[in-house]
Amino acid sequence: ILEKPVEQSNVPRVTYEDIGGMKDVIQKVRELVELPLKHPELFKRLGIEPPKGILLYGPPGVGKTLLAKAIANETDAYFIAINGPEIMSKYYGESEQRLREIFEEAKKHAPAIIFIDEIDAIAPKRDEVIGEVERRVVAQLLALMDGLESRGDVIVIAATNRPNAIDPALRRPGRFDREIEIPLPDKQGRLEILQIHTRNMPLAEDVDLEKLAEMTKGFTGADLAALVREAAMHALRRYLPEIDLDKDTIPPELLEKMEVRMEDFLA
Ligand code: ATP
Repeated sequence: ILEKPVEQSNVPRVTYEDIGGMKDVIQKVRELVELPLKHPELFKRLGIEPPKGILLYGPPGVGKTLLAKAIANETDAYFIAINGPEIMSKYYGESEQRLREIFEEAKKHAPAIIFIDEIDAIAPKRDEVIGEVERRVVAQLLALMDGLESRGDVIVIAATNRPNAIDPALRRPGRFDREIEIPLPDKQGRLEILQIHTRNMPLAEDVDLEKLAEMTKGFTGADLAALVREAAMHALRRYLPEIDLDKDTIPPELLEKMEVRMEDFLA
């Protein structure tokens, strides 16, 4: 029986189905992460080392965290998520110790994924850093990565918005030597994301998601999720006058007729 870390219970059951506009990215992830986690013998047979570290990079809000959660869920790997800034502040002085513990825990429960969000906070370029703590934390992380046996059953996935802001030593072979860019979604991607987020929504006939996808050039997944939420709240305000807050229940007829219209998205 796997003992699950606290973080695991916070991971919603995100699957690849919940991520829009990332077909190519997901394909790459499956090769780079799923394959070595599930079948390390393939790599052994071919005489190559499976990847230990993967860097996801792209603008904020495009779904890097979402993707890491989905990978963990889809591979049934033990999952430990840590957050760069958090580990630096909360465990000030104990950060290296905490990192060692996390790697130990992952090895014990392999196959495992360690997800480091906002890695630039842990491992900024060393010459740009004055603090002794940061210097030691980078060194510790590098040592731990190097110490991971190349069995492929522990993979570190790190995310950053600023790939050029992290210590280049981290990107050398055997460390985070694979990079996957997660760009802003294109029109088709935006459409998929809108479809995902309106999945459980009573959309009126006039809602044209294609058109919305066309109109939202430059939006991230997070922006689109917010747009959908706002539209629903806008729709809700239309029905507010019919809602009696003194009553305990909402009349079923009202629930039945509620819908989110195109005008709610455009408001
Ligand atoms: P950051 O770099 O700021 O951590 P991120 O790239 O990790 O951002 P997430 O935190 O994964 O982005 O995304 C925020 C929210 O936006 C998600 O919980 C989800 O609701 C929505 N979202 C983002 N990208 C997508 C996507 N590709 N498909 C579906 N929903 C998405």
